[in-house]
Amino acid sequence: MRCPTSISNRRRVLCVFPAYTPSFGTFSHSYRLLPRVRAFMPPQGLLLIAAYLPPSWLVRFIDENITPATAGDFAWADFVFVSGMHIQAPQIHDIARRAKRAGKLTVLGGASVSGSPELYPEFDYLHIGEIGDGTDRLIAFLDQSVAPPQAQMRFETNERLPLCDFPPPAYDLIRLDHYLIGSLQFSSGCPYRCEFCDIPALYGRQPRLKRHEQVTAELDEMLKQPGHPSVVYFVDDNFIGNRKAARELLPHLIDWQRRHDYPLQFACEATLNLAKQPEILSLMRRAQFLTVFVGIETPETDALKAMRKEHNSALPMMEAIKTLNSYGLEVTSGIILGLDTDTADTESRIKEFIDLSEIPILTINLLQALPRTPLWDRLKRDGRLIVNDQGLESNVRFLRSYDEVVATWRRCVAYAYDPERLFARFTHQIDATYAHRMNVPVRGKLTIRNLREAVVLGFNVLLWIGLLSNYRRSFWRAARRALKRGQIDAALGMGLVAYHLIRFSRDALRGDQNASFYSTRSRALTPPVGPQLEDATTLGQ
Ligand code: SF4
Repeated sequence: MRCPTSISNRRRVLCVFPAYTPSFGTFSHSYRLLPRVRAFMPPQGLLLIAAYLPPSWLVRFIDENITPATAGDFAWADFVFVSGMHIQAPQIHDIARRAKRAGKLTVLGGASVSGSPELYPEFDYLHIGEIGDGTDRLIAFLDQSVAPPQAQMRFETNERLPLCDFPPPAYDLIRLDHYLIGSLQFSSGCPYRCEFCDIPALYGRQPRLKRHEQVTAELDEMLKQPGHPSVVYFVDDNFIGNRKAARELLPHLIDWQRRHDYPLQFACEATLNLAKQPEILSLMRRAQFLTVFVGIETPETDALKAMRKEHNSALPMMEAIKTLNSYGLEVTSGIILGLDTDTADTESRIKEFIDLSEIPILTINLLQALPRTPLWDRLKRDGRLIVNDQGLESNVRFLRSYDEVVATWRRCVAYAYDPERLFARFTHQIDATYAHRMNVPVRGKLTIRNLREAVVLGFNVLLWIGLLSNYRRSFWRAARRALKRGQIDAALGMGLVAYHLIRFSRDALRGDQNASFYSTRSRALTPPVGPQLEDATTLGQ
């Protein structure tokens, strides 16, 4: 649905989504291998707001991961709407500065301002919380006034708009072919309470859901664009937060895929106890879910207990990963360093985990305390929050020495992304995972455009990785095995992903990239790059 507020004036709204700082999860180095791709994933939240605005208002949408908003864009607008996560804070401030310079009124929503409104005194209006009654009051106010407020005004949502009333994101305002993967939200909220995570506080512990008709209608919308991405990522923080709902949705996805000759593949985020759900796993396989991001965080059971993530040890970890692989799901994993439970042995345990799990893609980060988390409260109580950060990689005063934690991070990244090891893990996936995927008709993907793109990707992988890289031998060992198994997609995919991971890790080890998503060390403001594999759905992200 659209905003129900009755409107008397026409307004021009410029939605600007801030660029992300590069990370392991952005795959930004890989864009050059694909013809049109310039960013990672469409920003669901801000596109949702754009779709919710009154139909008589004119909306222009700029994702600065693709192109910066111009002086002409700012001049056109009555209001500049911005949203983002904490990792985008410097870019959010930068957009506010440019909008103010152009004399425009600014509105900020999203996860970062909802968690820490005090960080953004320069905005005229703050939208706190998810889309809901606060959004309606904000729209009603902006309809009545284009005069700058005397002081900053806050509009807070007390009653959220049910997800079953969400309009589809405003895909008509963007070009999907500029994105590496598509995004879709089915649910919001998570029943767990991991100490470091702000999702339960921001979005609640009772997952709220869309209807299956909404989900398939959004897929239909994506398909309408000629160059839609072939992979769609369910941005829900935990796809099985409500297992019954996931079980009920999946047959509709299978049916949709069948009716359209399987034009898409899916990915999602879930907790590791997904491995205990054979029925859901079997349905996911049939719906063409190929990848699942699992916040494994640490292989150490005591550490999982301390961070209240015991659900990751519901099954022996390696057994759980093997089970997911056996349903054709490649696991990608988050790992956190700098935990209170870390010891001198943690590094060797993480390296052992990398070897035994055979997970190719791992995002290895330093612990960061986010506002509105139990971790934040505890560290604040204990005087361990670093407020004036002096350019450190984390805002946590670690129990181990800062230098040792960062050095451990470096050694773990170097270990994980040594090309020989990385391609060995991919090689393992060929038999352990890719071979278990369902063979589906290719008709849904056989378009001239897709064929052209596959040829360009094939050429680029061959040139940049197969011929010119200094890790070409490792690549060919893995690629030959995939090709022998008839897995052409896998051979190209390995090249595409490894190209980013190896380049990014080399940048990071040289000190050109940060050890944490949230690091305050010098951040580039201008270059358009892709976002992290994270999403959220307060106003904007
Ligand atoms: S880390 Fe994942 S499982 Fe834990 S509370 Fe956050 S979303 Fe839920």
